[in-house]
This record gives sequence, structure tokens and C-alpha cells, in this order.
Amino acid sequence: MNAGQRSRELNERARRVSPGGVNSPVRAFGAVGGEPFFTANGSGSRLRDVDGKEYIDYVLSWGPLILGHAHPYVTEAVQRAVEKGTHYGTSTPEEVALAEKIVALMPSIEMVRFVNSGTEATMSAVRLARAATGRDLILKFEGCYHGHGDSFLAKAGSGMATLGLPSSPGVPQEVTRLTLTVPFNDAGAVSEALAHHGERLAAVIVEPVVGNAGLIPPQPGFLESLREQTRRVGALLIFDEVMTGFRVALGGAQARYGIEPDLTTLGKVIGAGFPVGAYGGARELMGQVAPAGGVYQAGTLSGNPVAMAAGLAQLEVLERQDPYGMLEEQAARLVDGIVQAARRHGVPATGAAVGSMWGVYFCEGPVRNFQDAMRVDRELFSAYHGECLAGGVFFAPSPFEAGFISTAHSEADVDQTLAVVDRSLAKAARAG
Ligand code: PMP
Repeated sequence: MNAGQRSRELNERARRVSPGGVNSPVRAFGAVGGEPFFTANGSGSRLRDVDGKEYIDYVLSWGPLILGHAHPYVTEAVQRAVEKGTHYGTSTPEEVALAEKIVALMPSIEMVRFVNSGTEATMSAVRLARAATGRDLILKFEGCYHGHGDSFLAKAGSGMATLGLPSSPGVPQEVTRLTLTVPFNDAGAVSEALAHHGERLAAVIVEPVVGNAGLIPPQPGFLESLREQTRRVGALLIFDEVMTGFRVALGGAQARYGIEPDLTTLGKVIGAGFPVGAYGGARELMGQVAPAGGVYQAGTLSGNPVAMAAGLAQLEVLERQDPYGMLEEQAARLVDGIVQAARRHGVPATGAAVGSMWGVYFCEGPVRNFQDAMRVDRELFSAYHGECLAGGVFFAPSPFEAGFISTAHSEADVDQTLAVVDRSLAKAARAG
């Protein structure tokens, strides 16, 4: 889709002063082509761009907005907070209130530390895991994203049990050699890696439901196996719930699948669209973080009272409404509708919904790991994405990102979306 005149002008100005015209790469639409639109405002399930075009939004700020845009209860909480000042550099009651709420809703978390992004949360959790175990190696899964910390920008070496290589210039090999990478949903690969490196392993970090390679649910027994194997070698299990936390269930993926990780990282939903991250776990572990303990980690704006008020308001609504069953029904109806439309137009498709996260791959299923996901028809996806945008539906501009749905999305929104999807797939399939 061609962006409107105002978006095109803004893209031109932005490209002169910001790398790629954006402040986070995926916003540049590199995976789908075409010019990104600039947003003027959002309300409920909708975004409006600077040229006045409206979209049903399934990106939702990449996950934080589980109540939709500008939810009145959240907006009022923010307004009340911001009128008192923006930040003080001292502790505020809001930080305690949000921490208490998280501790109450996630039993594996007895203490929590707020930071400013998911990236900071995962970097800090790994530092703590290394300090607590006295070991250096971490293990992650191919296709999982844990932010842009050096340790996570690692790809697998040539063999299953070799140490990682940098996946970005500027990341030292000395750092990524400490990161093992194995396929998701492959407990055997984990056990092989642990057989070689278990004694040096500080932690396994995992997105319990992968949302950064499309949407890949864990296969039955996989997360249980991670729990068992990490315990056996004395490594910590870190659930990166930056995306899944308070999204796939009120207590996150750990509640949904009944697994207790040692450390949890959070972000997105707990900030309701403000820059917030957090990491937490048992008192004995979190007590090692400065100033209670020696593991250093700090932040000028950490625990910002406006952000805390927003996050707390959002969690209060979620707790009151418990919308997860309804969200999953809507997400599943959307996925089924897209998969059926694809089949009507001769396009292979498979998909899944977990709580308010969902994903469809344009390829034959099953998709169990990143390598399976790489089979998607990227050209068809690009054409489909552009047609959907033109029809007023904003899906993530990459076949390797999860979709989201909010409590503001009505049945009529989903119906309207599926009508646009049907037309878009018909056109995209013909073009291919
Ligand atoms: N972990 C996961 C699972 C994420 O999805 C993300 C962001 N998409 C991050 C970490 C990094 O969070 P941030 O972008 O806030 O640094």
C-alpha cells in the first residue's frame, strides 16, 4: 500500500535525521516493502494515521495495549499521575503498588525490580543468574528474541553443542561464545547441549510461547523438560514473559502451563504503553540485587510514577474483568478465519492462538520451531500485508511476528477484518 501524502513527507524527513527513518527497525516495513504510515492517534481497536485513514490494529504497540488504545481507566490514571509531576528521583507509592500487584499475581515472583525496557530486564536477569550460579554460559532458543543485549544477539555455530557467533556487527565473539543456541521445542537438543556444557551453564532463557518468530506454542512436555533439566545441572530457568506476561493468562505463561521458573522478565503489558520492564523471582535470588546485594543494576527513570500508574491501572482492569477466555476465543476465530480464507484461495496456511496472542503462517504446518517458520511464503505475505493495510487492517509488518488482540476488539471488528483478509488473500494469491 502507498502511504498517504503526510506519511510520505514525514518518512522523508525522518530518513534524513534517524537511521532508516525509525527508532526501532521493524517499524520501517523492511520485511514487507512499502512506506510505513505515521500514526496520529489511537482509540480502542483503531489507529488513525496522519492522513486520516483508519486501521483495525492487531499490532497494539507490539503487545502492551491489551485493553486497546487510550482505555479511559488507564488514561485517567496517567492524567492523575502526570499532574503531580513526571519523576522525582526518589521512591514513590506507585512503585510499591505495582510491585505488590505483580507479586500477588505471579507466585514465582516474591520480589521484583523495575527497569525501562524488556531489553534491560533480560540483561539484568542474566547478570543475576551468572552471579547467583557463579557460571558464565547461557542457553537460548533459535527464533526467540530477548531484546538487543550483546549476549542475545548470538546465532548457533555449526554444530548443536558449539558456542554462539555474533548475529550483529559490533557484538564481540568473546561475548556470544558464552551463548548456546538450540532449536525451540527440542528437549533432546537441550539435553545434548547440557551434556557438554551443563556444569558451566548459568541459565536457560526462553520465551515460553514464542512470539518473535510468528507464534509458536510450546509442545506438551517441552517447558516441563526445561524445568527438569535446568534443575538437574544446577542452572536457573528464566522465563522471558515480556510478551506473554499478563497476556496469555493473568499469571502469564507460567500460570497457563503450570511451570515455576527461577526468574521472570516482564515488560509490555505491565507498562500499558509506557517504557517499563521488570525482572523478578524468589526473595533469595532477588536479594542479591544492589543495594540489598552486590549484583549491580540501576536506572535514573526506573519505576517512573506515571508509567507505574498506567501499568497498575491496566492490571487492575485485567484482574477485574478476567478477559482471557474471551480474548482467546476472538483470537482463535480470527486465526481460523484467516486459515480458511487462505485455503479457499489455494494458499497453504497454519496458525494458532494462545490467549490474546495469535499467528498464521502461510506454509504447511506444523510449525514447531524457527526452521519450520522459515518455510513461509514471504512474497505472498508482503502482497497480503499491503492489501490488508489498503483495506484498513494493520497486521505486524513481518511474517515472523505474533499478532495481538485486545478487549477493545469487537466481534464486528473481527468480521470486518476477515472480509478484508479474504479479498486481500484473493488478490495476493492471484498476483503470485
Ligand atoms: N523479550 C521479549 C520476549 C520481547 O518480545 C521483547 C520485545 N519485543 C523484548 C524482550 C525486548 O523488549 P524491549 O523492546 O522493551 O527492549
